[in-house]
Amino acid sequence: MENIKKAIHKYWGYTDFLPLQKEAMECLNSGKDSIVVLPTGGGKSLCFQAPAVTMPGLAIVVSPLIALMKDQVDALLECGVSAARIDSSLSYDEQKQVFESIHKKTLKLLYLSPERIVTGNFIEILKKAKPSFIAIDEAHCVSMWGHDFRPEYRQMGRLKDIFPGITIGAFTATATEQVRNDIAEQLHLSNPQILVGSFDRPNLVYKVQPKNKIENQVCDILERHKNESGVIYCIRRNDVEKLSDALNKKGYRTAPYHAGMTDKKRKKNQEAFIKDKIDTIVATIAFGMGIDKSNVRYVIHTGMPKSLEHYQQESGRAGRDGLEAECFMFYSAGDYGTWKSLMRDMPPEALEIALAKLNGMYSYCTNAVCRHKSILQYFGQNLEKDNCGACDMCLGNMEYIEDSLITAQKIISCILRLEQRFGGEYTALVLTGSEDMRILQNRHDKLSTYGLLAEFPKRTVRDWIEQLTGQGYIDKVGEFNVLNVTPKGFAVLKNKETPKLLKPAQKPAKVSKAALDSWEGVDRELFDALRTLRTKIASQKRIPPYIVFGDGALRDMARKRPSHINSFLDVKGVGEKKCKQYGEKFMNVIIEYCTEHSLDTNLD
Ligand code: ADP
Ligand code: ZN
Repeated sequence: MENIKKAIHKYWGYTDFLPLQKEAMECLNSGKDSIVVLPTGGGKSLCFQAPAVTMPGLAIVVSPLIALMKDQVDALLECGVSAARIDSSLSYDEQKQVFESIHKKTLKLLYLSPERIVTGNFIEILKKAKPSFIAIDEAHCVSMWGHDFRPEYRQMGRLKDIFPGITIGAFTATATEQVRNDIAEQLHLSNPQILVGSFDRPNLVYKVQPKNKIENQVCDILERHKNESGVIYCIRRNDVEKLSDALNKKGYRTAPYHAGMTDKKRKKNQEAFIKDKIDTIVATIAFGMGIDKSNVRYVIHTGMPKSLEHYQQESGRAGRDGLEAECFMFYSAGDYGTWKSLMRDMPPEALEIALAKLNGMYSYCTNAVCRHKSILQYFGQNLEKDNCGACDMCLGNMEYIEDSLITAQKIISCILRLEQRFGGEYTALVLTGSEDMRILQNRHDKLSTYGLLAEFPKRTVRDWIEQLTGQGYIDKVGEFNVLNVTPKGFAVLKNKETPKLLKPAQKPAKVSKAALDSWEGVDRELFDALRTLRTKIASQKRIPPYIVFGDGALRDMARKRPSHINSFLDVKGVGEKKCKQYGEKFMNVIIEYCTEHSLDTNLD
């Protein structure tokens, strides 16, 4: 392990392990099969890359997507690690070169697609190379129970026969126990060590709000994240185009991405995003597979996904570098209704599961509890602290209204007075005392509950109804989502249950601890100057900027302001090769900036 520690310092510029990295590396090192479950950004790649460097021979990595392989190989080469990939996009000459490096035993990591590793002529070449171990990335693809089953992954059940005694490490971000067991079985792992990390992503700040003027809501966020990368998810293709256009007209740099565009156009926009040529990609969920961009600082959902699994995966694309990032969810009752009606034709069993997932998602939006806790609980884990310090609830962006009980009683009574025959919109109109034609015609202005909440905007009342639904006091029934009062809701009328209703807080929001920590001591102007240099170098070398240096390394530079090699090497994320390759250029910017602003250099 000492060697591994030295290697991660030398090549990657890291001084410590992230949780479970050490344990995962020990497995590969000692020849024990393993299944490692860590969230996105948990540092899975280093778990196999570092042992690959220190162990004799060649390590094989199986990965499902060419884009992912390319990204990882580019990043390894930048760090000075000898790595290569073989996939259908390589020319004959390029492939030949890779084979030569295998033959000369200079290669430490070889990335392959699942189809290739089990084809005849390959097997012989790989056998001769005596692989040190095989790492299987995105291992949940092997399981039909996972969310991304790939038939070609099934063939990897043969690996243990083809390479007798080989150590296999399986890595994934999403695995229920069922999927985990299936991975072990399908890959014929022998008594594997199972390492499951916390699914919590403490650097992500979750915020949830009802949707109203979505374009303005989005602009507020973009204003706070000027020049930073982010993803905006829309449910429909049409919304993608519209929003992207509208934002561009306002001067933001965005591009659309959805399955209805030509491959060429999609690829172009994705590249522009990855290379920081635009800031924001506006997309349907078609976007994201195979994107490893580490410096995504915000993910905005302009509509509610149909499950927390989806939400976790999409929002999880933020902050892969471990630095703080914001995840916003703007939801509406309409989204709930849309999904529900799309599920109409499902067979009953599947419908039940889908509805349970949809309700779980909706509860996340409408429940007044810590968002980190809420997500973790859904995935069967606990958060060990009372205040996560990284969600709108814990940061005090939202506050409970003082008279939750009375307000809830007014709403529930109104639903009963309306004989449980109307939806949320209509009920809110009655409660706020609207003179809408339908209400007058139905003589609902004569009800005792008419106008009981007239001092609030309809939007607020509408949202309280949604909150009560999410918290299980009200049910939405049938095709028209008619509001029904549940037994729990009747208990509210008897003062036996107290719902928690929320409104946006008036006081300014606190900043998350993750944000405070990662910006502490950082000179932001210098950070921007370093970022400009990074973009320039990346575009010359035709690689994504985050592969040159991550945001974390740039912030640490702008904090320590190194002006000579030794202190440049102290920067987190600077290994020996990058120091040699880029040190001078970045230090020149630092020295120039510090001279101009009379700032000290080489801080600790
Ligand atoms: P995953 O594959 O689990 O999503 P990655 O391998 O992409 O995660 O790593 C996430 C981020 O964490 C990357 O930016 C990586 O450079 C960083 N990282 C990984 N290991 C360490 C470490 N030991 N110390 C500091 N940063 C690390
Ligand atoms: Zn919280």
